[in-house]
Amino acid sequence: MRNQVAVYTGSFDPFHLGHENIVRRAAPLFDRIVVGVGVNPDKQALFEPRERVELIQTVLADLPNVSVEPFSGLAVSFVRKVGARVMLRGLRALADLEYEFTMSLTNASLDDQIETFFLMAGKDHTHLSSTLIRQIAIYGGELRGFLPEPIIERVRQRCRERA
Ligand code: ADP
Repeated sequence: MRNQVAVYTGSFDPFHLGHENIVRRAAPLFDRIVVGVGVNPDKQALFEPRERVELIQTVLADLPNVSVEPFSGLAVSFVRKVGARVMLRGLRALADLEYEFTMSLTNASLDDQIETFFLMAGKDHTHLSSTLIRQIAIYGGELRGFLPEPIIERVRQRCRERA
């Protein structure tokens, strides 16, 4: 029996509505989706990787075929470890294409059994990026329309602690 697993990696600091949109659209297309939260030491990070995992789990709690895990090292190694052959990626504007194209070819060179599966960003989400959302949050801007409702307060609170 086919068991098609897709892995969606990123740093997700924080996980925003564009990320959520990609996972929700992909969830019915695969047997299972694993969201992989990259563990990169980053002094600017708003949340620790384990906190990001927990926040994403909160947002996606209603999707029974989606799980969330931290990972370090190469994304292709993580993909193999969870028994997947598909890397799920979201494409915003044309600006993403060059980077994603390069990544996809590099990953294919590392493991030719792995395919990259692209979904275009949702029409209301093409402008969203974690970097810009962190800036808005730090300066106390309105986060509705950028972040999933269940995590807005946690992000606000973290930014107040940092101020
Ligand atoms: P992070 O900055 O949190 O690591 P990335 O930019 O690495 O997030 O994004 C992880 C994945 O989500 C990538 O495939 C990226 O193209 C996709 N992505 C990022 N922002 C959006 C968005 N607004 N809409 C759809 N997909 C997105």
